[in-house]
Amino acid sequence: MSVFQVSPVMGQMMHQPLLISTIIEFAARHHGDSEIVSRRVEGDMHRYNYRDCHQRARRLANALHGLGVGMGDRVATLAWNGYRHLEAYYAVSGSGAVLHTINPRLFPDQIAYISNHAEDQVLLFDLTFLPVVEKIAASCQFVRHFVLLCDRDRMPDTTGIPDLLCYEDLIATHSDQYEWPLFDENAAATLCYTSGTTGNPKGALYSHRSTVLHAYAAALPSSLNVCASDTVLPVVPMFHVNAWGLPYAVPLCGARLVFPGAALDGKSLYELFEAEKVTFSAGVPTVWLGLLNHVLQNKLRFSTFRRTVIGGAACPPAMMDTLIDQFGVEVIHAWGMTEMSPLGTTGGLQAKHLALPRDAQRKILQKQGHAIYGVDMKIVDDEGKELPWDGASYGHLLVKGPWIIASYYKDEGGEVLRDGWFPTGDVATIDADGYMQITDRSKDVIKSGGEWIGTIDLENLAMAHPAVLQAACIGLFHPKWDERPVLVVVQRPGMTVSRAELLQFFDGKIAKWWTPDDVLFVDALPMGATGKIQKNKLREQFKGHSLV
Ligand code: ADP
Repeated sequence: MSVFQVSPVMGQMMHQPLLISTIIEFAARHHGDSEIVSRRVEGDMHRYNYRDCHQRARRLANALHGLGVGMGDRVATLAWNGYRHLEAYYAVSGSGAVLHTINPRLFPDQIAYISNHAEDQVLLFDLTFLPVVEKIAASCQFVRHFVLLCDRDRMPDTTGIPDLLCYEDLIATHSDQYEWPLFDENAAATLCYTSGTTGNPKGALYSHRSTVLHAYAAALPSSLNVCASDTVLPVVPMFHVNAWGLPYAVPLCGARLVFPGAALDGKSLYELFEAEKVTFSAGVPTVWLGLLNHVLQNKLRFSTFRRTVIGGAACPPAMMDTLIDQFGVEVIHAWGMTEMSPLGTTGGLQAKHLALPRDAQRKILQKQGHAIYGVDMKIVDDEGKELPWDGASYGHLLVKGPWIIASYYKDEGGEVLRDGWFPTGDVATIDADGYMQITDRSKDVIKSGGEWIGTIDLENLAMAHPAVLQAACIGLFHPKWDERPVLVVVQRPGMTVSRAELLQFFDGKIAKWWTPDDVLFVDALPMGATGKIQKNKLREQFKGHSLV
């Protein structure tokens, strides 16, 4: 369906399709010496630069061609953040095939389901995932070639995997002479599945055009603000929504890249931040929780770390305060989702906010942020009527833009758009300055006596208590009110807080009827494949808990 309504006089500029291959070509040619450092699963550090990366990506493109991979074929990866994964990012999409990044934290059955749904022809995987691949190889009906991302000397003697190939052997036997093909920028480039907390995972099929535009937007100063003088460490995995676009946005700016591999604990991350002089990083709140705990417990300081993007789940205000006030790290709160490539909004102040007192500024930074150019958004009520941008009215958040899906892969789930807008499944407010704040996911909102209670606010408040490490708020059945909020809490090691003390902590901070009815203490919260708390599991676990 055409989006054009009139026939204009055409401009007279060169036509150059926005293809992913142009990013690595640019980085190799104009920032060829910029370094890419990877902590390998083999345990050692690997260093090379964009020029080397480009060369090896071209070898891989030839190798894939040799394996019979053609335009539009899916090539899957099960891999950590590292240089070989980056080579696959460019070789697969650049040659016209589709890169399908699989989240290894999914259950083996889910991985096999996704691989079959995507009809993956080749699977590239890290050594860590050998046991998983051995388990699922026979169930992956379409995979013709399994490739282990390692050197010859690491190849296992026996596996249940038919004709297992060694990545380094494979690319060594192919030439680095390769011309990236030119094709329609709307061609499919990468495929990511949503984590499928409800129902089967659904695929978001990004195009070259959407990926390049998203990378441009992500790099903007009022967005993630990447520049050539940065050393960027994406903690957010390359198997989850393309690491928020950083494997494209960082080379596009020529910045230095540091990949953490599989070591995502606080100590390993801190050591890498310091050793490699990382200036900028991005990840979900649980990752920062681990890093900050390590740094605080050991009374450490960051010597180069200046800026971080936190998203994927609400950034607790207490975490933001610690990063800014104790460590001088600027925090960019970001919101998005798999269906949005993922970036939709990013936090930051506008010129008119600079004179505001600290607390007022912090309130703004705590919101999920302002739309970035390319994304439009609105909030609507249950009937679809648009609600005002007053910072108080909350409703269903809808979005549109060139890097937001129009439909799921293979039309799973049927028609998804509503009058051209994508319903995000989030409930939010938007204020007069255009800042959006997520109240909740619609499926997590608590409906108490016909009124809605947002759980994010309650969790943020609970996590401001010094003895609370993590908190999740869920709605449990109540005979009078239908649902009431209950807090599930993990206490900070060596500290305790009682139910009564914690409930008292809410006094005067929220409307009385929002106060949770109970506090349940647990040792750990169930985490999903993308590092988010699985509230559906908690609701199931505490289903029978009586609130009267
Ligand atoms: P899933 O977990 O469904 O695979 P995504 O990673 O795509 O998927 O998650 C998208 C969802 O994560 C959003 O719809 C929103 O509910 C939540 N989310 C993302 N960023 C934030 C944020 N900064 N604050 C609150 N919620 C967020």
